[in-house]
Amino acid sequence: MTPADLIRPEIQALSAYHVPDSAGLIKLDAMESPYPWPEALREDWLTTLREAALNRYPDPRGRGLQAALRAAMDIPPDMALLLGNGSDELIQMLALAVARPGRKVLSLDPGFVMYRMIALFAGMDYVGVALRTADFGLDLDATLAAIAREAPALTYIAYPNNPTGNLFDVAAIEQIIQASPGLVIVDEAYAPFTDRSFIPRVGEWPNLLVMRTVSKMGLAGLRLGYLAGPPDWLTEIDKVRLPYNINVLTQASATFALRHRDAWHAQTAAIREARAALFDALAALDGITPYPSEANFILARTAPGRAGAVFQGLLARGVLIKKLDGGHPLLADCLRITVGTPRENAALLQALEAAIGAA
Ligand SMILES: *Cc1c(COP(=O)(O)O)cnc(C)c1O
Repeated sequence: MTPADLIRPEIQALSAYHVPDSAGLIKLDAMESPYPWPEALREDWLTTLREAALNRYPDPRGRGLQAALRAAMDIPPDMALLLGNGSDELIQMLALAVARPGRKVLSLDPGFVMYRMIALFAGMDYVGVALRTADFGLDLDATLAAIAREAPALTYIAYPNNPTGNLFDVAAIEQIIQASPGLVIVDEAYAPFTDRSFIPRVGEWPNLLVMRTVSKMGLAGLRLGYLAGPPDWLTEIDKVRLPYNINVLTQASATFALRHRDAWHAQTAAIREARAALFDALAALDGITPYPSEANFILARTAPGRAGAVFQGLLARGVLIKKLDGGHPLLADCLRITVGTPRENAALLQALEAAIGAA
């Protein structure tokens, strides 16, 4: 047998998730925080790590970490929490728990690619409902029609959305939750950069789950996501979790960071301020149209047919962003820029001006 005989055709048709080489570049492509572990907390954190028992398996449910998450957030006390090795693993666990031939995952396009990828890995069908062209808003009629037609087992709504950066209308999301025969997962990966959230509303509907991650707040290297929702659902989904999925160092580091969350809050607050300044500076440039964002990145459109040249021009000047043009039709001529430090953003703007001039 060869791979061509054995590997499922839909897997053979994929390319592996591509991460570009960023050595030596200003890295504004992956929504990471530009800020390292706060210097003032470094010694205390290392003391904690010195005491970590690496000869032992981790706490299987991450109870200390769950307590720290609850203390940091407004999760209704009668609701359950489930931890994942990044929210990607939670998306995978949800799919594994419900997958069966003909079962569907629904989301809004353009959106987060892992909803579609993991549906495919698990042998489920993916249904994408297009956002509105003008403002990337949610097309409620089309979404409700798709839910009635497809009866999705899982519906994902990224709030704010990636890669468009906007929040959807709350009343529209409420109607989607009510109309859905399956679970609706509101993905709040960008929660540190907006004041809006469904976390306090977990429990209001029996089929609402809210997913979050520490990746965008400055801890992408830890790989930790969490899902909040009714205990009867999370007890079932927990059964497909691999034992000890959150390692000892992640549990210790994330618990420490949550106890000192003010330091990370100061970092994300600085990014929110820098986002406003970057938006204004982009809006002032000829040949670039930025879209308002509630996340730590800004979607921007170049003049028709220029996105590739602008992206390459930035790369030649040492700045890596994400080119979205060529993906979804709604993203024609679009680029996505992660908000960096004020100094990185200034370098980006300077390179961008040169790249647009040269494009
Ligand atoms: C970045 C992102 C995630 C994060 O995934 P992790 O696996 O926790 O790093 C989840 N959802 C959306 C919409 C994202 O943009």
